[in-house]
Amino acid sequence: MRRSKSVNRTIWRIVFVLVVVALIVGYRLVEEIGPDRHPDERFVVVRVVDGDTVELRGGDRLRLLAVDTPEKGQPFYEEACRFLSDQVLAKQVEIIFGGKRRDGYGRLLGFLYIDNVCINEAILRSGMGCLYLFEDNIGLPQIEPLLAAQVEAINGDRGIWSVDYRPEDHYVAAKGSFRFHRPGCRAIARTRVDNRLIFDSREEAALIGLSPCRTCRP
Ligand SMILES: [Zn+2]
Repeated sequence: MRRSKSVNRTIWRIVFVLVVVALIVGYRLVEEIGPDRHPDERFVVVRVVDGDTVELRGGDRLRLLAVDTPEKGQPFYEEACRFLSDQVLAKQVEIIFGGKRRDGYGRLLGFLYIDNVCINEAILRSGMGCLYLFEDNIGLPQIEPLLAAQVEAINGDRGIWSVDYRPEDHYVAAKGSFRFHRPGCRAIARTRVDNRLIFDSREEAALIGLSPCRTCRP
């Protein structure tokens, strides 16, 4: 009698562990969105978190790829949030993923489309953010139109490009990198002088697709 009780307990333990494992695996499968999946309820935007992040029905957050919008307290933060909200809130969106499906925070990374209009591109065209590239998205077909949209915004003095903000008299980038810096930034300190690019303005660096360093925030 005693032995069968302990056997029973062992069986229940095994069942419990199996159920927990099944729940975890099931949860992961639900979380994973296939790249070829068609737009459906899953891709309705239920909340705009900030100018470049949305929440989808089902709880997933999506960070718009290759763009960076102002942080709270910076000029055009409110406008960037409102712009994205006007474009996508409560609408069905299609997501095109880049190379990496999720970032280190578990957020989805992608390009948002509504009726074949790329929202990432619309953000840059209106000057509500700047192009923000990493090595793994440089070759994507969306990047060239994104840069063209940013050039349009800079030349038109739109949004963030309308702010006459020039904290330094020149800016520096390492050849082959994707960021530009204030001349005193640590990130550039060890770059040899003949391996540096010098720009007169932030716009000049942004016109060729370089993004402001997030450490020295030029
Ligand atoms: Zn820097």
